Amino acid sequence: MKLRVDDITAEARELEFPEPEGEINRALGLGAVRDYRLEGPVKVKLAHYRAGTELFIQGEISATARGLCARCAEDFVAPHVRGFRYVLAPRSLGDDGPAATRAEDLEFSTYGGDEVDLAPLIQEQALLAYSTRPLCREDCRGLCPRCGANLNEGDCACPAESGDPRLAVLHTLKLRRPH
Ligand SMILES: [Zn+2]
Ligand SMILES: [Zn+2]
Repeated sequence: MKLRVDDITAEARELEFPEPEGEINRALGLGAVRDYRLEGPVKVKLAHYRAGTELFIQGEISATARGLCARCAEDFVAPHVRGFRYVLAPRSLGDDGPAATRAEDLEFSTYGGDEVDLAPLIQEQALLAYSTRPLCREDCRGLCPRCGANLNEGDCACPAESGDPRLAVLHTLKLRRPH
């Protein structure tokens, strides 16, 4: 989605649009492990206005991705809503931006020419939304290190850890004795 700079006025205007997932999925897939993949376009809801030459864009993205759990390796659906605020300064002012008004939840960017391309901003927000380690749930029990069973589906038949590995070896030897 591109905005014409002339259409951004002092009066706030709201906008809703879907941002296609293709580019974002390409970026999500650049890492060594593909943790998340968007299932459809990112829904964007935002308001834009200007103060002098600075453009303000704030709103939220909502997305649904499919994640691969880092513990149990199962697929899971990961919906995410993330708010954002951007201030865009004309590129001619230099790359420093309005440093004096820097705030934690405020992102800075620049614009040049007569259009603002929102795609890179939306992509940045989507990557931030899906930057966490994927877990199907906070208390995922993962896989049994011995038999590989998914422990979320119930306990496996493996004996509980005996604590002393030397005892475990003795136990095995006893089982292997022929008589
Ligand atoms: Zn899991
Ligand atoms: Zn097991």
